[in-house]
Amino acid sequence: METLPQTFGSLVFNDSVMKERLPKETYKAMQKTIQNGEDLNLEVANVVANAMKDWAIEKGATHYTHWFQPMTGVTAEKHDSFISPTNDGHIIMEFNGKELVKGEPDASSFPSGGIRATCEARGYTAWDPTSYAFIKGTCLCIPTAFCSYGGEALDKKTPLLRSMAAINKQAMRVLKLFGSNAKSVKTTVGPEQEYFLVDKKLYDQREDLIFTGRTLFGAMPPKGQELEDHYFGTIKPRVQAYMNELNEELWKLGVLAKTEHNEVAPSQHELAPIFATTNIATDHNQLTMEVMKKLARKHDLVCLLHEKPFAGVNGSGKHNNWSISTDTGVNLLEPGETPRENAQFLLFLAAVIKAVDEYQDLLRISVASAGNDHRLGANEAPPAIVSMFVGDELEAVLESIEEGTIYQGKKKVQMKIGVDVLPKFPKDTTDRNRTSPFAFTGNKFEFRMLGSSESIACANIMLNTAVAEELCEFADILESSQRFEEDLNELIRSTIKSHKRIIFNGNGYDDAWIKEAEKRGLLNLKTTPDCLPYYISKKNIELFKKHEVLSETEVHARYEIIIENYAKLINIEALTMIDMVKKMILPAVTKYSDALAKTIIAKQQVSSSIVSTYECSVVREIAELSAKLYEDTKSLESLDAKAKKIEDAQKSASYYKDYVIPQMEKVRESADKLEVITAKEYWPFPSYSEILFSV
Ligand code: ADP
Ligand code: MG
Repeated sequence: METLPQTFGSLVFNDSVMKERLPKETYKAMQKTIQNGEDLNLEVANVVANAMKDWAIEKGATHYTHWFQPMTGVTAEKHDSFISPTNDGHIIMEFNGKELVKGEPDASSFPSGGIRATCEARGYTAWDPTSYAFIKGTCLCIPTAFCSYGGEALDKKTPLLRSMAAINKQAMRVLKLFGSNAKSVKTTVGPEQEYFLVDKKLYDQREDLIFTGRTLFGAMPPKGQELEDHYFGTIKPRVQAYMNELNEELWKLGVLAKTEHNEVAPSQHELAPIFATTNIATDHNQLTMEVMKKLARKHDLVCLLHEKPFAGVNGSGKHNNWSISTDTGVNLLEPGETPRENAQFLLFLAAVIKAVDEYQDLLRISVASAGNDHRLGANEAPPAIVSMFVGDELEAVLESIEEGTIYQGKKKVQMKIGVDVLPKFPKDTTDRNRTSPFAFTGNKFEFRMLGSSESIACANIMLNTAVAEELCEFADILESSQRFEEDLNELIRSTIKSHKRIIFNGNGYDDAWIKEAEKRGLLNLKTTPDCLPYYISKKNIELFKKHEVLSETEVHARYEIIIENYAKLINIEALTMIDMVKKMILPAVTKYSDALAKTIIAKQQVSSSIVSTYECSVVREIAELSAKLYEDTKSLESLDAKAKKIEDAQKSASYYKDYVIPQMEKVRESADKLEVITAKEYWPFPSYSEILFSV
């Protein structure tokens, strides 16, 4: 049997495979491309393609695909086989450099937000050699970026790579001032992924889960998550079997799956990988979600990645652990050992503080989706207000820097940047603030607002670009400084002073915080339609343009896709609800009520003295509730029709939010009341008790 170190990465065309299979010169050229982003010439690409093909065929592959991440948030692939006919009626297996480097999928059906008219449907995919090719089933997958012929990004990867280049450029300017010998910096990410597992047989009976990924109806079961017995609880055998196979599959693909445990809600779990360079972590998170879903089916399970599959129990998120490291292995968000390292740490910290404050709106937008709207601010996930947790100790340090006062830590010191060594901050795991959207955890930040189904690309594009901008401003000041130490001190001090309103170490679930945040002038953008208009504000378009992450056209395209998608999604939910009420719930309760009415009559025929208190009361209640349900459903139908007719995308989305969603809640309320009084055998689909405790 093969050991884990032998199977790890066995389906990946990684560095060791390249070293083994490529001629020395080709390997060197590849290294230059991977490490320094140098262009690959066609000759080299041909050699790499051929080696890749031979390797893939040995592993059972027959096809290849350019694997990309369109703006739908999922991944896309179109498979081409390696076969090429010969004159004698046979075939040979071929794959050349051109096919490796560039692809031309007919792209007219991917959302472009108006960038590319359908008549000029061609788009192209371009190889991202920094993310290794891998084999999925019988297909060699080549990670690529996806652009229009005009060069506009049509995917999530292109702007992500651009944002990494932007932060690299600006961070290097700053590092140079500190005399660093680093050649490049990269942002790193470790995304913790939450998910639900439900039994497939039960799932198949629920139209809402099938069409929308979440339950639109369901009365609370007698037991929910109140006993808090699931978090870190013993993993049940069926789930464990799934997790084991999930790990194996991911390891073969080179994904560093590390931690697995039960989450807070029943049937909820989490998987965390070891962090990687941001674009690779993003590819890997997409792969993880895909493998999670596919593998669940094999175990007669369904993996739900929706942010809020069940009302009343916790939803699922994704924690984006983020840091910046140099090619020399220095984590720039780690307090250092020397005064100089500490000054550098404080400057990078100040850049993040300023970035989160000035671009709160972009961070909020980066996690905006109809699904995630159910979580943010619902006392289970961070509030919709973006704020930052730095811990009491670091806050005290920042305060003493700002005020120029004595820092009252374990050792009393006057904090002078570039002179003093920072106190050691304990990386405590016990009393960490779980309610903060953006928390410093010792040597990285944990951005906790992301929804479980979302690609992490967006959050990291915003984060990288915003921090790049602040580093750029800092570098502009310091590069022209004649008195480095003094100006550095002053820069850090004034940055903290101007942006400390974003720092909040208290309980983010507390109502008092909402009032306090308002006083501080922080944004509270509760829903997707509320926050999206900020995407196309002048300040944000300028930011993206300046750092060449997104052009104005590209920003508008993205804004439009998200806003349209929101409306489409709510429309599907409303229609599914209407369908379930009319075809399932109302017929079912009528049948039950009919049975009860028959019992009442039968009892009467036996003797008029037999009471039918229960039957009569339920028949009456069903009559009242179903009348209300029917009327509310009719109203939902007409509100949904109205929303759909509104041509302006932003107005339509807002109408869905203001009228359709509240009406959906009304419909649900009557239906859930009916569920409680209807005999189990009559209820047309599995209840929360069955689904949540089935696995
Ligand atoms: P916890 O949040 O439970 O304390 P850890 O701190 O061990 O867990 O890590 C959570 C995630 O953060 C993991 O995916 C881990 O790999 C990632 N992580 C650790 N260091 C870094 C870093 N420098 N950059 C990005 N992610 C990191
Ligand atoms: Mg964590």
